[in-house]
Amino acid sequence: MAPDGQVLTREYDPAKAPDVHASEPIPEAARAEIERLLASGDLFRYTAPEGAPVALLEAEFAEVLGARYALAVSSCSAALFLALKALDLPRGAKVLIPAFTFAAVPSSIVHAECVPVLVEVGENYRVDMDDFAAKLQDGDAVMISHMRGHTSDMDAIMALCDARGIPVIEDAAHSLGTTWHGRNIGTIGRVGCFSFQSYKMINAGEGGIMITDDPEIAARAVIMSGAYEQNWKKHPGLQNSYCQWQNKLPLYNLRMQNLSAAVIRPQLPALQDRVAKGRAGHDRVADVLNACEGLSVPAPLPAEARAPDSIQFNLAHDWTDAQALAFQAAAKARGVTVQIFGLSEGNARAFWNWEFLGPAPDLPKTRAMLMRACDVRLPTRLTDAELDFIAHAIAEAAQAVMGGGRKI
Ligand SMILES: *Cc1c(COP(=O)(O)O)cnc(C)c1O
Repeated sequence: MAPDGQVLTREYDPAKAPDVHASEPIPEAARAEIERLLASGDLFRYTAPEGAPVALLEAEFAEVLGARYALAVSSCSAALFLALKALDLPRGAKVLIPAFTFAAVPSSIVHAECVPVLVEVGENYRVDMDDFAAKLQDGDAVMISHMRGHTSDMDAIMALCDARGIPVIEDAAHSLGTTWHGRNIGTIGRVGCFSFQSYKMINAGEGGIMITDDPEIAARAVIMSGAYEQNWKKHPGLQNSYCQWQNKLPLYNLRMQNLSAAVIRPQLPALQDRVAKGRAGHDRVADVLNACEGLSVPAPLPAEARAPDSIQFNLAHDWTDAQALAFQAAAKARGVTVQIFGLSEGNARAFWNWEFLGPAPDLPKTRAMLMRACDVRLPTRLTDAELDFIAHAIAEAAQAVMGGGRKI
């Protein structure tokens, strides 16, 4: 029993646990536009002479993020691949990535015929800067995944990369709305890539977008995304660059279609509200977990203001695998699903499961972190009561494993 009885006296009916997988409805404003597109059949981004929904989305997204160019594509993975191709890296180029990321990230590098180099990630889910600096000696490019929106030290990363002229791509798939020194994540490196897959801040089922201030990268990416013949004329920017690259680059056809843009555009004005709610909800749960023996939520880096729609926390070092699994089961019994990245079979975020890369490298820090790092979805639509249900179910599960006792 907890000495103050505060947590254990709560009633937990797992059937009353909030559904963290259901999505929010798409704003009503999308309906009229979708109806118009269905009625006219105008679904291809390059059919209309101007004002196609995909082109409008690109202009609006570039404006919201503060970037010169935006290119909407079929997924964030497609954007990452195009970013590598647009950088014109030679075959076999070494691309540094954090070893804690989603399998689609090293996959995009393999697709671009480059070689991913996995960098250690610390207990705070961020790139280990000593390992990064060492591996950068032999690197040609860097792709920083801000995994679950946790931002690595972009000041240190950019200083090291700029000093050696190494391009940085930001995988901001799950970081839309996060800022670093007040500046939008995704605008710090040479290219930033975002996802509109259903589990991200803006939901179109599938979709992605890349942003850059570099006209050559923008022109190359636009052509390779599938702006064949003169279709690049429907993109703003330096038309000379497009002329130079037309027919010189392969067409990978990774375009977004108009229906996706019609789903995304009315969600853009809701972004700041979702970010504020996500941050408040995360911090509300984090306060409860940090007061709980055996659980800790790593602090953000000082320059970072996150836009979370989930929470990550660590189990104490001295917990065994059996205790970690018992904790997971105890949370499940209370209706809350906790993913422990390294303890779930075939997890796509555990680097040793990326068998397509060959034998897993030795990364003891990242491995130790993944074996104790927990992940719980906290969609930004949750109410305070729902957040409290989740927080206290997790705290109670930890107490059940620890045999009671709170830090404070
Ligand atoms: C979701 C995600 C991706 C992949 O995005 P898709 O749009 O599904 O291709 C890549 N990196 C991170 C960090 C993600 O969270």
